[in-house]
Amino acid sequence: MPYCMIANEPGNSSVLIKKEFVLEAPKKYEVIIKNESIGVNFIDIYIRKGIYPWPPETNNQHLILGSEGAGIIEAIGSEVTKFKIGDRVAFLKTNGGYTSHRTIEQDFVVHLPDFISFEQAAAVMLKGLTVKYLLNDSYKIKGHENVLFHASAGGVGTIAGQWLKSLGIKTIGTAGTDEKCEIAKQQGYEYVINYNKEDFQKVAMEISEGKGFDIIYDSVGQATMPGSFGCLKNHGTLISFGQSSGTYTDLKITDLQAGSFFLSRPILFHFTSIPGWLDEACSVLFDMIRSGKINIQFDNSYHLENLGAVHDEIENRKTSGSIVLKV
Ligand code: NDP
Repeated sequence: MPYCMIANEPGNSSVLIKKEFVLEAPKKYEVIIKNESIGVNFIDIYIRKGIYPWPPETNNQHLILGSEGAGIIEAIGSEVTKFKIGDRVAFLKTNGGYTSHRTIEQDFVVHLPDFISFEQAAAVMLKGLTVKYLLNDSYKIKGHENVLFHASAGGVGTIAGQWLKSLGIKTIGTAGTDEKCEIAKQQGYEYVINYNKEDFQKVAMEISEGKGFDIIYDSVGQATMPGSFGCLKNHGTLISFGQSSGTYTDLKITDLQAGSFFLSRPILFHFTSIPGWLDEACSVLFDMIRSGKINIQFDNSYHLENLGAVHDEIENRKTSGSIVLKV
């Protein structure tokens, strides 16, 4: 029987429970995907805890989290022209993903080329497209920049390291343990600072020979933002795209005048809402995989039904690379 993992209210991982459901026929523009693999993201944890708002129609009850996955089309609505039953596909849409069978509008779904496995797709749709927009769209990397990327051993971080290296950019990373620093180095980073052992601002400035960085990608937030500002070059850009350590609340507009800095706070779903962006961005991302420029690291040892344990592992900083769930 089809089932999902549903959160009945915002809270810790114990709110995630299994629920069976009856699959209804898809509406006109919808498809039903039998999920083979589902990606887990830090954003699911923000939403589960209520740090990001729940959709108003849920009234803070009964929300299926999960935003990326891959599988096989099992049914299509009467007006669906893009897909047929049996197609291999992947999806990207906020919430609704932690389920054996996903009913979803066709615009959030893409065809999966044969050279990408379901697991690779589930590991890369959200995180890889995030890297795509971070390097191409929210800021257009030119190739001469000096880059610092925080949480470099994580899901997004390991993809970013490889992508930046393929562009010939020498990137400095940060990570929370020596082991994670080694992992990040293998993923393309020139040097990785253990920010739990060393003052990353001081070390990063030394590595850059006092010059500082053109671009800093910061998804850690509270713990790193002051230091990130402290090692930006004049006219440098800080891209804040997450807050895994908590939200940085001390920002003053005058902080930017220390170096005529640029600050951006982008969100993937503002790019995916641009008509045509998803298909175009996927073709860029899939080409990076096909050409071997990025090699997706994932742990597939968990099952969808163990979702709570996976959330705990990610939240407690025990993971590196991406986590994908078997269904
Ligand atoms: P990760 O696998 O990178 O996990 C988050 C990492 O943050 C941890 O592994 C940990 O690495 C680091 N971290 C630092 N401080 C803490 C803390 N106090 N508690 C927990 N973790 C901490 O997650 P994802 O790859 O899924 O996402 C990376 C970041 O990117 C997240 O902040 C996410 O929200 C953001 N994101 C933003 C998007 C956007 O469009 N704005 C889209 C996708 C992701 P370490 O132990 O090495 O410090």
